[in-house]
Amino acid sequence: MARQTLSLRRRWRKRLRVYGTGVSRYVGNHPFFAGMAGTLVAVSMAGLTLLTLSTGRADALDHARDTSQNLVAIISTDLERNVEIYDLSLQAMVDGARNQAARTLPAGVQRAVMFDRATTAAYLGGAYVIGRDGQVIASQSGEVNAAVRLADRDYFLAHQRSPAVGLYFSHPFRSRLRDGKLSIGLTRRIDRTDGTFAGVALLAIRIEYFQHLLDRIDTGRLGSVFVVMDDGTLLARKPLSSRDIGSSIAKSPTFQVMAAHNAGTYAAISAVDGVRRMYTYARVPGTPLIAVVAPAVDEVLAPWWRRSRIVGGLTLTFGVVFVMVSWLLSFALRDKLRAQAALVRLAATDPLTGLSNRRVLDNRLDEEWRRARRTGQPLSALFIDIDHFKQFNDTYGHASGDEALSAVAECIAATVRRAVDVVARYGGEEFAVILPDTPAEGALNVAEKIRRKVQSQDVIRSDGAIVAVTVSVGCATCVPAEGANALDLLAAADRQLYAAKAAGRNRVSSATWAERPMTQHSSM
Ligand code: GH3
Ligand code: MG
Ligand code: MG
Repeated sequence: MARQTLSLRRRWRKRLRVYGTGVSRYVGNHPFFAGMAGTLVAVSMAGLTLLTLSTGRADALDHARDTSQNLVAIISTDLERNVEIYDLSLQAMVDGARNQAARTLPAGVQRAVMFDRATTAAYLGGAYVIGRDGQVIASQSGEVNAAVRLADRDYFLAHQRSPAVGLYFSHPFRSRLRDGKLSIGLTRRIDRTDGTFAGVALLAIRIEYFQHLLDRIDTGRLGSVFVVMDDGTLLARKPLSSRDIGSSIAKSPTFQVMAAHNAGTYAAISAVDGVRRMYTYARVPGTPLIAVVAPAVDEVLAPWWRRSRIVGGLTLTFGVVFVMVSWLLSFALRDKLRAQAALVRLAATDPLTGLSNRRVLDNRLDEEWRRARRTGQPLSALFIDIDHFKQFNDTYGHASGDEALSAVAECIAATVRRAVDVVARYGGEEFAVILPDTPAEGALNVAEKIRRKVQSQDVIRSDGAIVAVTVSVGCATCVPAEGANALDLLAAADRQLYAAKAAGRNRVSSATWAERPMTQHSSM
């Protein structure tokens, strides 16, 4: 079992090595792969960062909404509970006012029956029983200002008009009983036994109660929190602007959304100060009140922004550096590959003539020989030697000799044009040409063309003098067979070259080497 695992591991390691080598070879041969891969990685990282940051933004907004919902719930619960308690007091006041027996009691006892302890709570501006003509007939404090008439108040009119109003929330008013303090009235109708209107029980709640409730809530420097009646009358607001209290925001588009739903969250730009806020609101059950918490979007997102700037900046910097480094690597690799290719070219090229050198000739001859053996196609070789070149050198100098060599090389290269053909400088002033898939006639034809082209082309020396050069060419053709080798073909071409020299130079000698005795052609 252990041995099996070991061999499996070895096999995997080998496979990984093979893949690894394959990948590194691919990367090594594609210089821009590193740059592209680096760019792709950097862009993907940037994309991921962007995604993470945008998720973080949504999370920050979600978190703010949750917090706002909690705050709204706290405000709402507080309001609901207090209103419930106040309503109990109001109902006690209504019952007390209707109690015939209580009227016979002394004033202090009568008050104690009508106004329970809750009516003395902080922020309560007073508890009053108002008669059917709007005159205060009893108060929790015992003071009754007979001159004050409250028949014009909205609550009074509402109760007077209908017995079915129940608990009524008045609009903010300036108290006529307590030196103009801003209050709202919580009222209930008092009926006679026959159901006709007998007056109103009133609990005045100082507006500071709402303000105090909101003061404890922190919504940042630009955030706001407020309590508004469902007809748009603003009861309290933080930050406090006493000018706004009692004013109507019914026309503001932000309020209209709240008025249409029970609870919700939305973002909007405030018509008052132009700050974009996230409004979370809910109606306070059993009341016409709406509690709203609205932190400024900019403040909610400020920590996220700070984080994003740092993370985004770092990602951008690292990304740019990463991309730059990968492209620098790519360019370095490209230069290296170019240099390598140049070296390979140099190693395969004869510096004087620009033709392939002997090493290439040997390799290609071997390749073509094996290929011809596989395909059964004839393979031809030409051996070209400049005539009386020693004499040429002796007469014109070696520099002119080199020029003549280059000129002859050009003639050969211009004649032998197929991509599969090989033209090489064999050594000294000798050239060899390999012509794959070429029968003897074709090779002879090419050889003759070369000879004629060299003969027709004067060599112009650097000093302007014109001299003539000729070549002798030996051709050999064979279909490679068992037992023979490529060098035999070259040797046969070499023999033909000597034959051409012997026959007088500036001529082509050819032999179909496979046929024996060798047929010989000579042309000039
Ligand atoms: P032929 O071939 O017609 O029998 O006479 P040849 O004088 O050309 O004889 P051979 O082929 O033996 O000549 C070789 C001469 O070629 C020797 C040298 O002067 C010249 N040679 C060989 N290589 C170079 C070279 O690179 N540059 C120059 N200028 N001359 C070279
Ligand atoms: Mg020679
Ligand atoms: Mg020669």
